[in-house]
Amino acid sequence: MNLILLGPPGAGKGTQAQRIEKSYGLVQLSTGDMLRGAVAAQTEIGRQVKRIMDAGELVPDTTIIEMISERIDHADCAQGFILDGFPRTTPQAEALDVMLEKKGMELNHVIEISVNDELLVERITGRFTCAKCGAGYHDKFQKTAVDGVCDNCGGTEFSRRADDTEKVIRTRLQAYHAQTAPILPYYQEKSRLRQVDGMASIDEVEQQIAAVLDGGARP
Ligand code: ADP
Ligand code: ADP
Ligand code: ZN
Repeated sequence: MNLILLGPPGAGKGTQAQRIEKSYGLVQLSTGDMLRGAVAAQTEIGRQVKRIMDAGELVPDTTIIEMISERIDHADCAQGFILDGFPRTTPQAEALDVMLEKKGMELNHVIEISVNDELLVERITGRFTCAKCGAGYHDKFQKTAVDGVCDNCGGTEFSRRADDTEKVIRTRLQAYHAQTAPILPYYQEKSRLRQVDGMASIDEVEQQIAAVLDGGARP
């Protein structure tokens, strides 16, 4: 089973992808994580995209499409994957369809996690992750059970993203509305799009997504 999680920055795509990964045995493909890895490793791509990411703008389509196309070929993707943060533009959505067809792969679900903009700033400014295992947390909405200790791996170091500031979030939200939201009709026309209420609690959103993945029936 292959699926796309769509939604603005802070909607809960990463949080839900981590849960689906565990319960359905799929692999999470986060283009944001891949790019941050490239920046940290100071690869050629990393050097090209750092300034763009710091500003909250979108990385060129060709860079992203090549990166995903290469990643999907890895053996672990054969068990199914969750696209988190991709596609983000119409050319990316079209390229994904072409690439999946070429590789003989299918897209089973496109799920939009919808959340009002006002909530997103608070979500993003409170976000932090375990530096060791990457588990995601929030200062208010998803605290660690023991203060300063990762629930998942016991790690005690955490990190916050350089672009999770209020100023950069505004630019990222603009990019979402201008470049990413227009792909929703693309999937709607193909009758693939399903929406879940991202304003609900993390557990409730997980249940709504599970209903889509398990049922497959349309309302
Ligand atoms: P995205 O990957 O879409 O940018 P994240 O999954 O990283 O979003 O979520 C952003 C922040 O909001 C994280 O700190 C996460 O713990 C928190 N969060 C995610 N989903 C919810 C929810 N349904 N309710 C409250 N907080 C949430
Ligand atoms: P969020 O989880 O908050 O939505 P991401 O981690 O997905 O953010 O993305 C962080 C940054 O990486 C984006 O602001 C953008 O610069 C770049 N990026 C990630 N995915 C893509 C993509 N599919 N197309 C263009 N740029 C991307
Ligand atoms: Zn951890």
